[in-house]
Amino acid sequence: MTRLLETQALEAFYGDFQALFGIDFTVDEGETVAIIGSNGAGKSTFLRALTGLRPTKGQSIEFAGQSIAGMAADRIHKLGLAMVPEGRRLFPSLTVEENLLIGASGHRAGPWTLKQVYEIFPDLVSKRRNPGTALSGGQQQMVAIGRALMSNPRLLLCDEISLGLAPKVIKDIYQAVPRIRENGTSILVVEQDVGQALAVADRIYCFMEGRVSLTGTPQSVTRAQIARAYFGMGEDA
Ligand code: ATP
Repeated sequence: MTRLLETQALEAFYGDFQALFGIDFTVDEGETVAIIGSNGAGKSTFLRALTGLRPTKGQSIEFAGQSIAGMAADRIHKLGLAMVPEGRRLFPSLTVEENLLIGASGHRAGPWTLKQVYEIFPDLVSKRRNPGTALSGGQQQMVAIGRALMSNPRLLLCDEISLGLAPKVIKDIYQAVPRIRENGTSILVVEQDVGQALAVADRIYCFMEGRVSLTGTPQSVTRAQIARAYFGMGEDA
């Protein structure tokens, strides 16, 4: 396996407040990795550090064979690391298709085109000329994922893509994951829904209070271990 992303002892701060403590983390080429953890565990901060939105100068973050610590967010994006932000953040005055095309502008060559995005999210085809705001929450999430894919990332970062969506809609979104992998795109999802994370990922990391509290394959970790790593509960909790 080729290593795509590796952090060693990564830390992050908001002023004097330390949000991440020594995160060792890897994603290999072709892997789907999930981060689980309760509110405030540091999951979003970790993604912001990877994408250059939190300062990481002088730290150890390797992506696709080069150090990206301290690099500007747009340069990291051009190397092939694209984020689907929490809350989707579509451009409200633009149509679905215009939102998707914005993702493609000036970025890497690769398999992702409008056609490919519409193939994995067929619900968007009839909505292509509609403004992003005229869509359901699930469809907006599909556009946000499609927009990130249009930049042909090597690694797609997804921050809480199931937040606030109905189970059926979450299923429709996650059915795209195998197709995304087939195109050679690695995936890192932050997911509060533990069942969903275990179902989709090759490996999971649980974060608690800014530290990795558990890591392994879905097959190798027990529900009791996850409960302890997630909530800090005792053996019999
Ligand atoms: P959530 O699921 O609620 O987004 P999370 O695991 O993503 O949780 P983070 O958002 O990374 O957690 O937050 C980690 C810690 O950093 C929390 O204690 C949070 O209060 C703090 N934090 C996050 N953003 C800021 C900020 N802009 N300024 C100050 N502290 C922050």
